[in-house]
Amino acid sequence: MKKLFFSAAAVLLTTLVVQAQINTRTDTVIAAPVPYTAYGPQFDWSKGYYVAEIKPGTGVYWVTEGSHQVMFMTTGKGVVVVDAPPIFGDKISRAIAEVTKEPVTHLIYTHYHADHIAGAYQFPKGIKIISSEGIKNRLRELQSGQREVPFGTFVGGKPVELPTGTFKNNYVLKVGNKTIELQVLAASHTHSDVAVYLPKEKILNAVDFVWAGWIPFDGLGEAEDLNGYLAVQERLLQFDWDVMVGGHVGRLANRQDVETNITYINDVKNAVMKALQTTDYMAAAKKAGFSNTFLTVETYFDMVAHAASKEVEAKWVGKLAGADVWTYNNCRRMMMWLRLN
Ligand SMILES: [Zn+2]
Repeated sequence: MKKLFFSAAAVLLTTLVVQAQINTRTDTVIAAPVPYTAYGPQFDWSKGYYVAEIKPGTGVYWVTEGSHQVMFMTTGKGVVVVDAPPIFGDKISRAIAEVTKEPVTHLIYTHYHADHIAGAYQFPKGIKIISSEGIKNRLRELQSGQREVPFGTFVGGKPVELPTGTFKNNYVLKVGNKTIELQVLAASHTHSDVAVYLPKEKILNAVDFVWAGWIPFDGLGEAEDLNGYLAVQERLLQFDWDVMVGGHVGRLANRQDVETNITYINDVKNAVMKALQTTDYMAAAKKAGFSNTFLTVETYFDMVAHAASKEVEAKWVGKLAGADVWTYNNCRRMMMWLRLN
């Protein structure tokens, strides 16, 4: 009886495990190892963040918790912070207090996405908030009127203060010993992305264009304009810098990371163009039939994205982290873009 109970329990357990494997993709996917080049500095996870000067003696710092990164700088007249991802909670303020006694006086928004600015509530009221007019207009739209849930809710944030100072295309912000050049980039990740450039220190902060050591995030970084997203990579290289704060992942980017990103995106584009030209819609129809139009079209889309991603993965898995995870999605996003634009 006891034995029977144990076998029944074992069967139940096995069933549950198998069920879990069937139901959740992450349990069934065997991912390629993350290349060591994708990792940043090791830090104390119980503390929850890593903070360090980007270049010694510059007073320009970055803080990361492994998946997001923020730049801030001392000026002798107060701290200027670029973005406030809500995932940090109040850890940006804590990181700042760890390295300087200067109060935060300025906050710059690089773009309107909640995952990068909906943690702005942690800073004192009354600080100067700088962004482009495009960002301010978008934030006003996003935070006005009736919404089911407030802006920032789904990324753990809160509604953000609207910028107190805006500019159209370019602005030079001088605070204490820092000169900060702000420049609106062409429509790419969003329709009003701001690059934050420190010419003296040769440091660039440009968010959601390059994931250093990784392929672009799902759907080519959720870029709104894929032509612009490709073109902006070249634009980033036109600034004179050697370290870039990209907004995500656990390490900073160098110029080679941008070059690599351009090559990867072009590989995705070329592979998808080839697959669009060589994949036979009738072959998809033969598999799926004609009675369910959505299924037939879906089968065709899948065949295109699958053929393209197979080619791209063969080159990039083992070189860029996540190549086996999101190349299919990146190809699919590119396919839709090329079909419709
Ligand atoms: Zn974004």
